[in-house]
Amino acid sequence: MFTICKGSQNIVEETLTDKAANVRKLLQNADAIIIGAGAGLSTAAGIEYAGPRFTENFKDFIERYGMTDMYSAGFYPFRTEEEKWAYWSRHIRMNRYDAPVGEPYRQLLKMVEGKPYFVITTNVDAQFYKAGFDPLRIWAVQGDYGKLQCACGCHDTLYDNHDLIMEMCEKQRDCRIPSDLVPHCPRCGERMEINIRKDMYFVQDAQWYAEQTE
Ligand SMILES: [Zn+2]
Repeated sequence: MFTICKGSQNIVEETLTDKAANVRKLLQNADAIIIGAGAGLSTAAGIEYAGPRFTENFKDFIERYGMTDMYSAGFYPFRTEEEKWAYWSRHIRMNRYDAPVGEPYRQLLKMVEGKPYFVITTNVDAQFYKAGFDPLRIWAVQGDYGKLQCACGCHDTLYDNHDLIMEMCEKQRDCRIPSDLVPHCPRCGERMEINIRKDMYFVQDAQWYAEQTE
């Protein structure tokens, strides 16, 4: 419930329903819609990085590394690639592959379907794609958990990581993956990284530039 004061005499109470109705009307009358979406939308979709969703699925990592949530765990300075990928494969599997499409994404799509729309998002969990938004009208600025790149950015190809991530999850023991699953760049032999923007080596492939210029 939002209370809006208009002048000293009239107090108008605007409910959430009213607000939603106003937004719906604005959307219906718009010629085109640009959607800007960040982490809050995925949190509202149930992809929470803290609380039971974290503590129940990362008990072993919490005991070993003292992690408190999936956001800060993403910055943990793992000493080995085997440990890093043990954590990240589980993180990616949960948030990118296993997470169902969130209701807020479905509702948002219903509201804009039939209109010219474009999505600019910092979310890397692919919810917009999974919900059925037109991939040609999504610009995922900060990357995608589902792709790997050379850690040095020696070339701009991105690699789908689904099968590798699943295998890492299946075969990890004591917070480590087997060494032969550690990915290496097929061109320079360096480490591979997840294609998320965290340093100057973030790879923006042809698809990224195509989305930017849509
Ligand atoms: Zn390379």
